[in-house]
Amino acid sequence: MPTYKRILLKLSGEALMGDDAYGINRATIVRMVREIQEVTALGCEVAVVIGGGNIFRGVAGGSVGMDRATADYMGMLATVMNALALADTMRQEGMTARVMSAIGIEQIVEPYVRPKALQYLEEGKLVIFAAGTGNPFFTTDTAAALRGAEIGAQIMLKATKVDGVYTADPKKDPEATRYASISFDEAIVKNLQVLDATAFALCRDQKLPIKVFSIFKPGALKRVVLGEDEGTLVHV
Ligand code: UDP
Repeated sequence: MPTYKRILLKLSGEALMGDDAYGINRATIVRMVREIQEVTALGCEVAVVIGGGNIFRGVAGGSVGMDRATADYMGMLATVMNALALADTMRQEGMTARVMSAIGIEQIVEPYVRPKALQYLEEGKLVIFAAGTGNPFFTTDTAAALRGAEIGAQIMLKATKVDGVYTADPKKDPEATRYASISFDEAIVKNLQVLDATAFALCRDQKLPIKVFSIFKPGALKRVVLGEDEGTLVHV
């Protein structure tokens, strides 16, 4: 039995990149989708917020010198591309997914309508939230916190490259250890970067726990959903 009935999974754009320098790596996206399929098979309702950093990031890279809001809208469009790729891969793997966009782009994907999203989840369909919050100056982490709270997810799963929150940067400090769990308040006191400040504050206010784990570790998502010791739980 899954520990969580409904989850909000935040996948960064980089999670689709594999070892490539940018874009979407076919083998990686298929592997990711199969990991998600394993948890839906447990009876867990899954909503995904996908990032766009593998294609375009508003703050850095190609956007240098650009008007910030314009660059951010480009970043949001990048998340729509990832969402379409993800949904199509899910279809190929025999799953039913619906993409819902925070910005109006109706010829391509349906708009985000909360009751519709809830209905899809209840029907056992996967829901992929695209275009972040629909607003510049935000991130897809914030979109994940927002949608997670809106759909009544029991937890937000933040998939990263590192398998949790560490006492120090494990790449720089060999003594660094992983927290199995930590409270929101402790994370603030210790100045640990779990999510960006806006996303973190929203989760804390809404009492939405966060689990940080590595999406590159085979089976980790399933272990998280089963409540096993994996990654770091940030709790109220
Ligand atoms: N973005 C935005 N508003 C949002 C979500 C995303 O403006 O609500 C833009 C922003 O430019 C960001 C880009 O989309 O850099 C890609 O999102 P993010 O960096 O969160 O993607 P990830 O790092 O998860 O791949």
